This record gives sequence, structure tokens and C-alpha cells, in this order.
Amino acid sequence: MSLSKSATVGFRGIEARTVEAADALSTFSYECEESVKVAMHSCEEKWPLPSNCQLESATAARSDRDYLRAILVRASSIMREKENQQVKITEVKAYALQQPLESSSFAFSQTWVNTRQTTIVVVATDEGIEGCGEAFGPAKTIARLIETAFAPLMVGQDPFNTEPIWDSIYRPHRHNSQKGILCEALSAVDIALWDIKGKATGQPVYNLLGGAFRNRAHAYATGLYRPQGADPKVALIEEALGYKKDGFFAMKYKMGTVSMEKDLDILGAIRDAIGWDLTLLVDANCAYDASDAMWLSQQMEEMNVYWFEEPLPPEDLDGYAELKNSTTIKIVAGECEATRFGFRELIGRRCVDILQPDVCICGGITEFQKIVAMASAANTAVIPHVWGTNVAIAAALHCYAAIPNIPGKINPPEPFFEFDRSPNPLREGATHEKFVAKESYIEIPNTPGLGVTVNKEFLEANSRQG
Ligand code: MG
Repeated sequence: MSLSKSATVGFRGIEARTVEAADALSTFSYECEESVKVAMHSCEEKWPLPSNCQLESATAARSDRDYLRAILVRASSIMREKENQQVKITEVKAYALQQPLESSSFAFSQTWVNTRQTTIVVVATDEGIEGCGEAFGPAKTIARLIETAFAPLMVGQDPFNTEPIWDSIYRPHRHNSQKGILCEALSAVDIALWDIKGKATGQPVYNLLGGAFRNRAHAYATGLYRPQGADPKVALIEEALGYKKDGFFAMKYKMGTVSMEKDLDILGAIRDAIGWDLTLLVDANCAYDASDAMWLSQQMEEMNVYWFEEPLPPEDLDGYAELKNSTTIKIVAGECEATRFGFRELIGRRCVDILQPDVCICGGITEFQKIVAMASAANTAVIPHVWGTNVAIAAALHCYAAIPNIPGKINPPEPFFEFDRSPNPLREGATHEKFVAKESYIEIPNTPGLGVTVNKEFLEANSRQG
């Protein structure tokens, strides 16, 4: 383990043989613990410690040896204090981010998107480590829920207690909500705690989830929404060709804003334009009933559409099961669902071929792991839904890394990873790091925590209160 900044300060202080060195050591964190232990061990071997050696006598010590020994004794004492001391959450701050899209507004089957919004949470600890998380959904409402209802339950708690903290928030709010806004808000704070756990242990989050099955994500482009003020067929063919030029292996068309016949016409034109080697996905965002979805599936089989996402409203589980049994196109859904309790029905009734939990909706990383385990038991594949800023992308990448191959085999196909390309000025601004797809692959961060740092100036400048 390399020396942290505070440890470096401490050892420079030792070299200078100044009293300030001892003060500097008092600031050291767990990050430099191993370094100090190594130094102490080495020191003990070389120079046995006089039984009466105390820090107070160090300043009067005549040799480097005695001074260093005294400093390390003090370091040892601080370490013992820290080992007995629980890390505590000191602050939970939520930023409700909003940005109007104006001329780049777009539509999916349920609404026009004129504003992008999301909630970024920053959880601080008394160790100085901060974690970040994100919630999908109405930002001002979620930010207020987090700061007024969740934060009082979290401050003073050990951030490593992700299970007890999740339980302490979900359980007393069951009367109010068992999915939707409550679980979206809970997702954000849970993700932030996993970020803290990773940073505190020096591990990328996927290692805390059991390790990575893969170190890069096979990204497909989510886009091809209904554009504002343009002929959709012309504009979407141009957009699709752009994704092909950028090297994406697959792209997703958002259907349901026009008639079924018009959608098939546009989809056929996109297929002709991009050719038959690329994978084509469609997403209806709950626009149909089972019989219309069955008819559409039959038509889309001819276009070699790989998956049909959210063809039906999430409440129509019987319709999902009927549809899934009627077509060779994979039926996928799950972005509206939350918690192990909600996914139990979707999995148990075999409604979908592929589950799409969103870590910013389903209850966070803690709950995502449980959903993956349930899906694995039912031999149902999992591909995360992702539609947020780089914080959401980072959280989803770590979850994605840890998803087992379902089913497993020696040469399994790579799971897809959703890479939203629709207009979103918040996506890149929220963090200092950027995610780029090169030839359809995104590298999964391997630094401690989520591997992203929030841009607080951007968060402050773009957040709305009240
Ligand atoms: Mg979708």
C-alpha cells in the first residue's frame, strides 16, 4: 500500500525531526496504517524499544533512532484508538439537479422530456471519506425526502452497516411506499455507502461484491427517441448511422410515440440503413397491451429485432407471461420494479427473458445483489437499466462487473450494458471523470469505491432547492 498524503507529511516530519511531525501523525488515516505498521516492525527489529520511551521525551531525544521510535509509538497508540473507534456518518447532503433541454427535447411513449433531472447524494464521515450516489426520479421531491426523512436515521451510523441502514430506512416507510420514489431515494444513499466502503478499504466496489466477472462493459447505444420538430424517420436514420459510425454493436429504438404501423416503417428503415450485422433493440416504455405486443413481435421477428423492452405496463404480469411464450424475440423489463419483493413476481412467474433492475431505482447496490441472486436461481439473465449521470453509470458498471453469467459456460456471451446517448447536460457535469465507449466497450473503474468523484461546483450551480 502506498503512502497517503497524510502519511507522507508524517514521515517528512520525522526526517526533519520537528515536533510538528508528531502533530502530522495525528492526522493519519487508515490509508497509511499498513505503511506505519511496516515502518514500526522494521524499527523494532533494528532498535529494541526502551521500556520508558514516551512521546513527551522525544523532543529531547538525541538521536534519529529514539525520535523515530517515539513517533511510531504515538502512531501505534493512534491506530489502537482508531481500531476501537466506529466510523460515523456525519452528513447526508442531496443535490436536486435540473437542466432544461429546450430545442433538444425528445419523447418516449409516455411523455416529452423537456428537462433532465436527477438527485446526487454525498454522504460524509468523520474519517473524511465521502461517498456519492444517485437516484432516478423527481429530483426535488427525492432530495427533500433524503434530507428530511433519511438523514436523521443515518447520521451517527457506521457506513459499513449497509444492511442495517437499508432496513432502518425501508421498514418504517413501508406504509408509504414499497417502490418508486422511496426506493429511488434509498438507492442513492445506499450507493453512497458502498462508495465509502470501497474508499475506506481501498477496493473497487465490485471487489466488495465478490469480484469481477469482466473488466469492461459491452455497451449499446440508447437513443433513437422521437425528436422535436423534425421528421422522425429522417432524423432517426441519421442518428442510427451515427451510432454505427461510432462503433456501437447495438442500438435501441424507442417506439410507441406514433402508430404501430408508423413505428414498423421507421424501424424497417433503420434496419435497412444500418445493415443486418448490428443488433437492433426496441423499447416501448409500457405502450401496449398483450395482443398488440404479440402482433408487433411477429412483425419485428422479420427485422431480426433482438429484444422487446417493456412492451406492457409493469402491472400486467399475466400479459408478460403470455407474450414471452408467443415470440422468439427476448422480452425484457424491470426498470419500473424495485426490491427483492417486487422482483420476486417478475422472476417467479417467468415474465421476462432478461431482467433490467436499475441500481438507482431498485433500492441500491444492496438490493441489486439480492435481485441478481434471485435471477440466477431462476436462470434468468440480468442486464442493468441505466439512465443517469456518470455517478449512476459508475454504480451500474460495478454491479455489472459482479453479475455472474446466467447461464454460465466456458465461453459465455458478454452481457449488454446500457449507455444512454440521449441529450443530458447533467451526465458529464456531475463528475470529474468521463465514460467513453471505444468500439462499444467501456472500461470499468478499478480505483477505490465507485471510481468517480463528484464535481461539487457543478452540483451547487445546478441544484434547485424547495
Ligand atoms: Mg427502458
